[in-house]
Amino acid sequence: MDGFTRSMVERGHLTSHCLLLEADDRLILVDTGMGLRDVHDPRSRISGFFLGLVAPDFREEMTAIRQVERMGFDPRDVRDIVLTHLDFDHAGGLDDFPHARVHLTTREREYAEQQKTWMDRQRFRPQQWSTRGQWHTYAGSSGEKWMGFDCVRELESLPSDVLLVPLHGHTHGHVGVAVRSEGRWKLNAGDAYFYHAEMDAVRPHCTPGLRFYQWMLEKDRRARLDNQKRLRELRRTHGSDIDIFCSHDVLEFERLAGRSARIPADRMRADTPRSRATVDPRWSPDVPPVHRRPGDDSFDDSRSRPH
Ligand SMILES: [Zn+2]
Repeated sequence: MDGFTRSMVERGHLTSHCLLLEADDRLILVDTGMGLRDVHDPRSRISGFFLGLVAPDFREEMTAIRQVERMGFDPRDVRDIVLTHLDFDHAGGLDDFPHARVHLTTREREYAEQQKTWMDRQRFRPQQWSTRGQWHTYAGSSGEKWMGFDCVRELESLPSDVLLVPLHGHTHGHVGVAVRSEGRWKLNAGDAYFYHAEMDAVRPHCTPGLRFYQWMLEKDRRARLDNQKRLRELRRTHGSDIDIFCSHDVLEFERLAGRSARIPADRMRADTPRSRATVDPRWSPDVPPVHRRPGDDSFDDSRSRPH
């Protein structure tokens, strides 16, 4: 499954990679992973089929809202959420941010709401959509060309450094989200691909498990494979200016986040501007998920160091 686990009976490991952006006046979350309600009562929210198949590691400290808090932010400042698509492992945390406006494509919303096939009803879970009233959708046909991709567009009332990049295939309305920070682009390609070596310019390949998983869930095979080709081309031509990553690859997550995928993000350094802050490397899985603030006995900022 993940390229590391050799045994057929041992489970592989995948991430649910969310991105937290700090704009001038708000926080923006790209994808939400699974949320508190999923952790506390998975059976009422996630289908038995996927619970058995992917066996999510339900830990409250790993939810987006708890990690936002751990980093010292107020979750109410997450005023916008940009979704790559509506699969249960990307939309589960929406309910934890009831005041946020949610940006997604019209096609994604309409198709998921139709609940057409058995598989659609397993993957798209209306139980996770209590914020439906705040969903703001974008038609797919408008937008401009950007780095070889068509119909790329900015989002309403969000900085022009955040772009919606159509990457259909995995679902009908699936998109990537491109973010420019300090002159460099990051492209969260969502589930456009699942395994880092699929982006290999010379010999793109995927593990058998993830090849099967992508085949099982794809809505448009040709579009999916075409978009993978475009992403490889983007990496080949602009690789020095852009970081491309997908939602579920552990290697890519750890390279970008600078920490193990098994532990949550920790407090940003209090003495640096947040945009240049980094994750505190002292964190270990044995430390309980408390919300430390400067001045707390347990928080000693002098020991924080960037890396
Ligand atoms: Zn996914």
